Amino acid sequence: MVSNQPHTPLVWTDLPDREPGPGEIRVKVLACGVCRTDLHVVDGELPHPNSPIIPGHEIVGRIDAVGDGVVGLSLGERVGIPWLGHTCGVCPYCVASRENLCDAPLFTGYTRDGGFATATIADARFAFPLGETGDAVKLAPLLCAGLIGWRALALAGEGRRLGLYGFGAAAHILAQVARWQGREVYAFTQAGDTKGQAFARSLGAVWAGGSDEAPPVPLDAAIIFAPVGDLVPLALRAVAKGGRVVCAGIHMSDIPAFPYAILWEERQLVSVANLSRKDGLDFLKLVPGIGIVMTTTTYPLERANRALADLRAGRFEGAAVLVP
Ligand SMILES: [Zn+2]
Ligand SMILES: [Zn+2]
Repeated sequence: MVSNQPHTPLVWTDLPDREPGPGEIRVKVLACGVCRTDLHVVDGELPHPNSPIIPGHEIVGRIDAVGDGVVGLSLGERVGIPWLGHTCGVCPYCVASRENLCDAPLFTGYTRDGGFATATIADARFAFPLGETGDAVKLAPLLCAGLIGWRALALAGEGRRLGLYGFGAAAHILAQVARWQGREVYAFTQAGDTKGQAFARSLGAVWAGGSDEAPPVPLDAAIIFAPVGDLVPLALRAVAKGGRVVCAGIHMSDIPAFPYAILWEERQLVSVANLSRKDGLDFLKLVPGIGIVMTTTTYPLERANRALADLRAGRFEGAAVLVP
C-alpha cells in the first residue's frame, strides 16, 4: 500500500520483491501495526518523506532472504522491524550511544519502505529477534507503541503517580507496564469519551477522566501521546513540584502560551525522539513477564486506508494491525 504523495489515499500497487543488499534482510510481513506517525506521514504533517513510500513501522515478519554479511539472524527467523531503520554510526550522537538522535538516520515507513506490504527490506542490525512465542498481531504494536512508550516512561522518571494523555495504542500498553512497575496510572481522554475512560480503568488506571479535568491528586509525571499542543499546559498544571511532562509524539499542534508559574518549581517539559536499539532489547526482554493484554483490531492489508481513517476518528480501542 503505497503513499504516492501526502494527502492522498494509499494505493494498492504490485511491486516485485526486492533482493536484500549487503547487510540487509528481506522479511515476509506477518502483521504490521498502524501508528499515529503513519497518519502524520500520509497527512503530510512530517517534512521530507520519501515519496512514493510504503508506510508502516510496527512490523512482525519472517526472514525469507538474507544479504551478504548479515550476522546473528538466519533464514526463517521471526523478527520485528521498528521505526529506527538505520543510523550512520559515526555522527556525534551515534558515537555517544544516542543513536535515536542520529544526524543521518533512516526511518521505516517514512524515509525507507515499511510494512504496509507483503514483504519489506530491512537493515539487519536494526531488526529484533522475536522468537516464536506470541501471536504476530499481538506483538506488532509493541514495535512502536510499546517501544516509544517505554522510552517515554524512562524519561518520565521514577515517580509513582503517572498521567497518560491520549489513551490510544501506546497508552493502553504503557498503562499495563506502569502498573506492573507498581505505579498509579491516571488516564486522560478526550472530554466526554466515557468509553475510552472505562477502557483505561479496565487496564488498571486508578482514575480516568477528560483531559480538561484536573486529576484528584497532583501527579509526579505525565506523558502526552495525543498530538495536541493544548495538552501541554494542562499536563504542567497536573504535575506536582519537580514533576516532568514528556511529549512522546513526533508531531504536535502548536503549544499555546502559558504562564511561567506552571513551569516554575522545577517542573520539566521534555520530548522523546525515536528509540535506540537498546530501548528495544530492554523492553522486549521484559514483555513476557509483564503479561500485556493487547487489544487489537485487525484489517486486511488492502484496507489500510480504512484502518488509517478509523485511527484518525478514534473508532477503535487499543491498536489497529494490518495483516497481508
Ligand atoms: Zn549517526
Ligand atoms: Zn510509531
